[in-house]
Amino acid sequence: MRIAMISEHASPLAVLGGEDAGGQNTHVAELSAALVAAGHDVRVYTRRDAVDLPVTARAPDGYEVVHVPAGPAEPVAKDALLPHMREFSHWLTARWRGGDWVPEVVHAHFWMSGLAALTAGRQTGVPVVQTYHALGTVKKRYQGVQDTSPARRIGYERELGRAVDRVVAQCRDEVGELVRLGVPRSRMTVVPSGVNLDTFAPLGPAVEREPDRPRVLTVGRLVERKGFQTVIRAMALVPDAECVVVGGPPAGLLETDPYARRLRALAGTCGVADRVRLVGAVPREEMGRWYRSADVLVAAPWYEPFGLTPLEAMACGVPVVGTAVGGIRDTVVDGVTGDLVPARDPQALAAALGSLLGDRIRRFGYATAALQRARRSYSWATAADRLAEVYAEVAAVHRPSRVVA
Ligand code: UDP
Repeated sequence: MRIAMISEHASPLAVLGGEDAGGQNTHVAELSAALVAAGHDVRVYTRRDAVDLPVTARAPDGYEVVHVPAGPAEPVAKDALLPHMREFSHWLTARWRGGDWVPEVVHAHFWMSGLAALTAGRQTGVPVVQTYHALGTVKKRYQGVQDTSPARRIGYERELGRAVDRVVAQCRDEVGELVRLGVPRSRMTVVPSGVNLDTFAPLGPAVEREPDRPRVLTVGRLVERKGFQTVIRAMALVPDAECVVVGGPPAGLLETDPYARRLRALAGTCGVADRVRLVGAVPREEMGRWYRSADVLVAAPWYEPFGLTPLEAMACGVPVVGTAVGGIRDTVVDGVTGDLVPARDPQALAAALGSLLGDRIRRFGYATAALQRARRSYSWATAADRLAEVYAEVAAVHRPSRVVA
């Protein structure tokens, strides 16, 4: 099939770890690669956010990336992109109306991409599949006044869910959130993200470490809701172990990053500054080396729409201690592939970590089960197959007569 992916702020070619560059970028890149490997023709449309970007570029994995002119050709925070979505959709419409490449289905990632996809899809007769990646209702609940999303986000997300041809949720928790938002269950299909089982595997080089000091790894964009503060507080109750934090700006810029400074200050206050190390952004292809160096991965977010890092660790044969939120409740099987703890609870996290780090046999059991689960249930080939079925279904029932002049 000819498949268009829209990922307005998250380019599959971006460097990860920055404030707006994380799981969605990885998801779109890996899914597109897996669909190409299965014989599909994939184009990813993302916003042109630098002057030196070509209009189209071919990714090494065989999909094409199209840099759509919408707003200034410079980085813009994703919460400030809404005014540029009209331009984005007009550009898509013009391309698909007159072009020689018209998609049979468009898969939108994030709500703003959905708006652009729906407008262009309506005008050109292309069915729309929507994946939210994150929901405004959940963000508002946890971030309150700190949530910088546009005020109409939640309303748009509800309308999108009722208007698109299919909503693809990534976990059971998201289904519940969407139903509460007012999206009918009948419009949804659950297809979890996958994990790259070549990049993330138990065998391979690992980053150096002190042999006698247990290593706790935690990975993610350096934003508050990822719960790094909880991890640092917990470290005070887990003597001897070291904590490595991967993500954020490149290492050279950590000194000036306000949140990184806050984390370092907190480590000082908790008396663990010598056992907490921030390494900054790590290129995706090097992530496996970091996972393999760890005894346990901690994922301690307040909420998590899906959460790729626990799955990546599992695929490397590393047990996970995660908070019982969002997608982590599906990927981590409590007491089998890792432990689930309540969010924002350093004591509970420390208790789980202390017990697991002190029990080599249980770590081995979790690691084996985690690897098996990642391989059996979360390959990108499986996710791409299931999504290709969804695409074929919506394309089969979609009526070109719905084209709006
Ligand atoms: N990541 C990376 N380098 C970093 C930090 C993160 O490649 O320095 C990747 C990580 O391996 C994962 C993604 O960024 O694939 C983060 O995805 P997740 O779903 O955990 O969180 P999100 O950023 O979507 O909130």
